[in-house]
Amino acid sequence: MPVSIAVIAEVVQGQIRPATKEACMAAQMIASATGQRWGVVVLGDSLDGLEDVPEIIRIRPSIPGTAGLDVRANAVAEVCADCSVILMTGTSGGNDLMGRVAQHLNAPLAADCIGLTVADQQMSFTRALYGGKILSTVSISTSPIMATFRPRSLPALPTGESTAKVSVVDADLGISQISVDFVGQAIKDRLDVTEADIVVSGGRGMQGPENWELLEDLALALGPRATLACSRPVSDSGWRPRREHVGQTGRSITPDLYIACGISGAIQHVAGIARSKCIVAINKDLDAPIFQVADYGIVGDLFEVIPALAAAIRRLV
Ligand code: FAD
Repeated sequence: MPVSIAVIAEVVQGQIRPATKEACMAAQMIASATGQRWGVVVLGDSLDGLEDVPEIIRIRPSIPGTAGLDVRANAVAEVCADCSVILMTGTSGGNDLMGRVAQHLNAPLAADCIGLTVADQQMSFTRALYGGKILSTVSISTSPIMATFRPRSLPALPTGESTAKVSVVDADLGISQISVDFVGQAIKDRLDVTEADIVVSGGRGMQGPENWELLEDLALALGPRATLACSRPVSDSGWRPRREHVGQTGRSITPDLYIACGISGAIQHVAGIARSKCIVAINKDLDAPIFQVADYGIVGDLFEVIPALAAAIRRLV
């Protein structure tokens, strides 16, 4: 393995997930402080988006993102066995894979970190516990040091001029051929809720899945960096897919703008959205708890407010 610090690229539907560049930022911070070489390990064919990393280690044979986690974990563990630091995105896919790699390497994993400090060549990782009420600092004294970072917790590696040096590493996958028996339902062409700058979210106040067109339209007016989310009862009722559920038992997000529509603001919901930079709440109940955490509140019927808001935004842009 040509590098000591490896970032495992997360590949979704053949494309490298943008949050990989945030794990790259962590790798660069560690490399600057320790003088070690870093690079990105890729298990797929696409290298798009990795133009600014110093080295790319491409695993052969190519492993499709749909191949079993254990196959990919085997390959990463084999290729990164000599690395001192292994990093990845803290998405559900990243945490799943790295958990298995950690088991192969018999190494501890600091999962879902929201911060990194490097002082005197020592790394400490910050993790949010109990829905962000407690911040714990984790140091790992054994090697390799493994961590995943929650999307949007670190800045992305800035675009520079460098051109990546690509090496190819043959991994023994322990099987002669990879066959894919099941390909999950294709995700609609929309940003993942953990990666979007703007999140338009709906709760039980939306009254049914047929009314999500209103939220779709608001997200459309807000541009391509906007996406949709929902409260837990909404996904439990099957109105929206589970990947959109935010909160203590769902995804934790940190968008620049979170718009809560018909969401009461239960503590378990707020646990997943409290780190949003700006929260706007639309609710007809002035006493709804969501207004206690909102930066801006609109008291009114969402069926009137949302179309008016979307129209006003369209006039502005
Ligand atoms: P409701 O609480 O029913 O609120 C609906 C809101 O819509 C109300 O405030 C109402 O005033 C407003 N409204 C209704 N009609 C209109 C209208 N026409 N215009 C404007 N406003 C309107 N919840 C999560 O979201 N995420 C979690 O991760 C999560 N984890 C949980 C874990 C545990 C262990 C438990 C016990 C619960 C968890 N919950 C979670 C559930 C949580 O406690 C709440 O029940 C849930 O968040 C409420 O969802 P809601 O705000 O959509 O619905």
